[in-house]
Amino acid sequence: MNTKVQANIAELKRILCCSSLLKHKIKKKIVRKLPLRLLYRLGILFMPYEAEMCLTSRCNLKCKMCGFRKSDRLFKMKDMDLEENKEVIKKISKFNPSVRLIGAGEPLLYKDIIPVLECLKDNGLVVTLVTNGTSLEGFAENIFNLKIYSVNISLDGTEEVHDSIRGVRGSYSQAINGLRKISELKREKGSVFPELRVNCTISNLNFECIDKFTDEIVKEDIDRLNFFHIFFTTKSAANAHNTRMNRDLKALATDDASNYKIDIATLQSNIDYIKTKYKHMNIIFQPDINGESLTRYYRNPDEDIINRERCIIPWTKMYILPDASVIPMYMCVDCALGNIKNNDATGVWDGKRFNQFRKELINRRGFSICSRCCGLFAK
Ligand code: SF4
Ligand code: SF4
Repeated sequence: MNTKVQANIAELKRILCCSSLLKHKIKKKIVRKLPLRLLYRLGILFMPYEAEMCLTSRCNLKCKMCGFRKSDRLFKMKDMDLEENKEVIKKISKFNPSVRLIGAGEPLLYKDIIPVLECLKDNGLVVTLVTNGTSLEGFAENIFNLKIYSVNISLDGTEEVHDSIRGVRGSYSQAINGLRKISELKREKGSVFPELRVNCTISNLNFECIDKFTDEIVKEDIDRLNFFHIFFTTKSAANAHNTRMNRDLKALATDDASNYKIDIATLQSNIDYIKTKYKHMNIIFQPDINGESLTRYYRNPDEDIINRERCIIPWTKMYILPDASVIPMYMCVDCALGNIKNNDATGVWDGKRFNQFRKELINRRGFSICSRCCGLFAK
């Protein structure tokens, strides 16, 4: 794994090689610093700088902690065909957002994934692929040749733990093979694209092994390792939200209380081990919490760790489901705020339902469902 210095140099090279990436980074830095909610009250709404696209809700894994499987609406959604997706890409391109291809399912299972990646690149967009890695090896050459910005592979722990969480034996080794194939191509051709990241979600299912997992994964040729404390919506938070809001903006509970079973002392000791032993490596914890905050995160999940009015997701990001309907974020309300297939993308972003959502969020000073949502902790 690259040290922090090597990773920063590689990132600088990527930025210098790609003017779209430079523009995106500058735009994101500036917009995030603006008082977006205040400006919105004054009638100013910026276009989103990021779009997350779920091409499919189909998946070849059966992850125990999968939040997407809790939404019937999502799981019954049919994929759009290539031409429809191209149309959506054309419509969002006028915002010039960076695009993350992400689950509700596994993006590489979308039948025309390579033409979609080509279309995104042809429109000059900065592209990140988030994948469970099981089909990555077969697509490695295409992905490498397209010079997309970043590939993020989700791994949940050591091989045995990962395969048990993901419900499919061999899923860890498949992901590692894909990762190695891309890093081999990068080495051979002397390229810094794509950036290779590993994402690991900490939960009650793997908190005991994240130290051993780190010892193993740092041997791979990756640019960054991200640990995410699991994001979830408790039943009490979802109920509180749903009784206060009209049915139009209802939330879905994604937590089965198993996160309360995490032994905080063990988790803290593993975090300390990783931070101390690998302090020169590019390893990030999100949120970066320790001690009392860590205990509160898992033991009092309805309590705020940071101010819930901090979320700027509905002012910066659009989350597009496989049928082109738009939600603010996957942990947020389980209702569409518009659909880009039949409408103009600006019309949806600045439409009645999206604005109703933003106004509710401001008036209620954040929702009860925000307390453990990634939208609050995103950097
Ligand atoms: S890989 Fe993602 S979408 Fe598929 S089951 Fe796992 S968490 Fe759900
Ligand atoms: S923090 Fe709240 S408003 Fe923001 S995306 Fe999450 S649930 Fe939605």
